[in-house]
Amino acid sequence: MRHKCFISSKTEDFNYKRYILENMDIDLIDKSLNVAIDSDDEEYIMQVIRRDYLSDSTVTIFLIGSQSSDALGWEEQKYIKRELQGSLYHGTGNTQSGILGIVLPHMTDSVYRGSYACNRCGGSHRYVNVKDTTISEFSYNYYIPNGDKCSWSEDDRFCVLVAWNEFAKAPEDYIHKAFNKRGHPIAEKTKVYP
Ligand SMILES: [Zn+2]
Repeated sequence: MRHKCFISSKTEDFNYKRYILENMDIDLIDKSLNVAIDSDDEEYIMQVIRRDYLSDSTVTIFLIGSQSSDALGWEEQKYIKRELQGSLYHGTGNTQSGILGIVLPHMTDSVYRGSYACNRCGGSHRYVNVKDTTISEFSYNYYIPNGDKCSWSEDDRFCVLVAWNEFAKAPEDYIHKAFNKRGHPIAEKTKVYP
């Protein structure tokens, strides 16, 4: 089964978006939020984003590039933040979308930082740095607070993360994985405005 996808990305990474649109057999909505929705009513803003942009998509693909972190500020990131908020939003007439973060090739070393020895369990954990490279809407829902555990298993995460090269080999597999999170218990722990 194919899932309809929406791509959230910065203009700097347009070539990757275009590559997906032109070369991958994915059911995509070719839109992006590019005007501010003039309202103080968050509920209303979320409804407009769902209705006019995300439409009936069930998975949002978030391209992680060099310009997609919170460090650049709200004004610079307001569209991708709104797109992810709208994706996470559970409202009347919509269910939230799964979120698939794709680490673009120039970001691989910044995100995948190797592994470290854990002084609590004695094991080894991968150090995946999404806090400095993405927006909180993504990083929070990737590292959902999980109590006293020393690491996150796949079941502790709502957002799915994959490197571009891996994604390109089997796009539908990763899209499906993100889609399935919608019905997983972890979906109850997501936050729209972290
Ligand atoms: Zn550990």
